[in-house]
Amino acid sequence: MKADKIWLDGKFVGWDEAMVHVCTHTIHYGWGVFEGIRCYKCHDGRSAILMLDAHIERLYDSAHIADLKIPFEKQELTQVCKEIVKVNGFEECYIRPVVFVGDDQLGLYVKDPKVRVSIIAWVWGAYLGDEGLQKGIRAKISSFTRHHVNAGMTKGKIVGNYVNSIMAKREVVALGFDEAIMLDTEGYVSEASGENIFIVKKGRIKTTPLTSILPGITRGAALSLARYMGFDVTEERFTRDELYLADECFFTGTAAEVTPVREVDGRMIGAGKPGPVTSQIQKKFFETARGMHPEYHKWLTYL
Ligand SMILES: *Cc1c(COP(=O)(O)O)cnc(C)c1O
Repeated sequence: MKADKIWLDGKFVGWDEAMVHVCTHTIHYGWGVFEGIRCYKCHDGRSAILMLDAHIERLYDSAHIADLKIPFEKQELTQVCKEIVKVNGFEECYIRPVVFVGDDQLGLYVKDPKVRVSIIAWVWGAYLGDEGLQKGIRAKISSFTRHHVNAGMTKGKIVGNYVNSIMAKREVVALGFDEAIMLDTEGYVSEASGENIFIVKKGRIKTTPLTSILPGITRGAALSLARYMGFDVTEERFTRDELYLADECFFTGTAAEVTPVREVDGRMIGAGKPGPVTSQIQKKFFETARGMHPEYHKWLTYL
């Protein structure tokens, strides 16, 4: 993981120069927000960022939830996301904007936080592995519960919230699984450590409602593609046993893209391999991201 340039507080600097002080507030308490965005190489050879405006919008929404004021205009950060791909000479990459609080004051209450912004880009392959994308992954329900909606608010990508995801993921990886699924505070399935979850039963698709989950942009894309493809789709809570009994299950996320889940808690999901609905949505997703469907060019920002 390395690139030539990183954007920090208004300008591009060398990768090794993008340093912060140990007194940086966010390191101590996790008060900050971030985004994860992907740029794909399209079928015509051009590169395009997928759903850039939606990601920038959500970055500001996360900051609003966290009561942080980003000292740049949306338009400016949008432009930087495009430039960072170009200055580093990438065709495909992952883009990570991070908003954090500077080092001039410590303590929980900071009167006028000095909000800083960095945008980083690097080449990041399949988050859950190429084999996972093709054959499906093995997931386990974590003993860690997803944040209560009135504690770590789930609708923002808030830095400190991710300790919860890290604990869940580490727990299940130590047990030999690929990814953690988390239940909400009432015991219903919420989402994975950094992905939203879908199940398919008798051709009908179900995903958890937005109540206690991160409103994933890939989730939105998958819902839209599934509806366009004529599938019956509902946003409705479901239980752990309903998940066990599903014919298919898949995760969506910018990092994980559309990853099939072939096993949960040692139980095979359906035939224990990516099902037909999952495979069709996954194929459509990658084709869309790579510019093969003109009706979805509106989702792409070509560079
Ligand atoms: C980022 C994230 C997702 C996926 O959201 P996308 O916008 O699709 O990348 C899902 N759940 C959690 C907890 C996340 O942090």
